[in-house]
Amino acid sequence: MTGAAITNDGCIATVNIAGGINAYFTSRGEVTASPYSGFNVCHYTGDDPAKVERCRVYIAGKAGIDPCKLIMPRQTHSINCRVIDSLPVVAEDLESVDALVTSLPGVAIGVSTADCVPVLLADPVNGVVGAAHAGWRGAVGGIVGVTLDRMIALGADPHYIKAVMGPCICKDCFEVGEEVARQFPHDCVIDEEGRKPHVDLPAYVASILIAGGVAPEAVAMPFACTKCDSDRYFSARALGINSGRNFSMIVKT
Ligand SMILES: [Zn+2]
Repeated sequence: MTGAAITNDGCIATVNIAGGINAYFTSRGEVTASPYSGFNVCHYTGDDPAKVERCRVYIAGKAGIDPCKLIMPRQTHSINCRVIDSLPVVAEDLESVDALVTSLPGVAIGVSTADCVPVLLADPVNGVVGAAHAGWRGAVGGIVGVTLDRMIALGADPHYIKAVMGPCICKDCFEVGEEVARQFPHDCVIDEEGRKPHVDLPAYVASILIAGGVAPEAVAMPFACTKCDSDRYFSARALGINSGRNFSMIVKT
């Protein structure tokens, strides 16, 4: 597992995954007293719709696509993955969806997170990309494996897949109850005398990707912790769930 090479432009970090395939990770932008701060494209967690739309147009411009080709689901910690194979996509088809895959050029797919793991995937050889929202529930439920399967059904080969995880909660910040810890393999749980268990969620996601055939060296681990750096990234644990979201999207041109 590796780190990603990042180009940073204020509130959007860009990772070039392969020729013509870019991943984008947003941060809060200008931090204000508001839990929504400066930059937020998530339309269903209570932020001002006009501002959300301005941010959406901005990131679409950054990626060089039409804003109507930026597809984001309304997530519910499900393990539902939607294949985007034509546009437009009606809103109902994006309800209770936590991962997207596509092979359409110029269509950006992304997920919103605030502590959960955003996982962006690309098979540059076969031209298939994916984006998954992996909180602990979705991760344990199998969202990452489901997303890989959908990509393979679209023609991807796991041996060519590159994965990049965006900002999410680190193992030192992710304190959980025993009932949550019990659902993870032992090697992803940190149990120390005198404190509650902690879970290494990115390590768990990486293990699922590798078990699914992705090469360990093709998995880029998160470059930041949302909770450690909650001035820069939205963190549900730091700000509450009525807050902005970090957006992670991938597009092939
Ligand atoms: Zn942390």
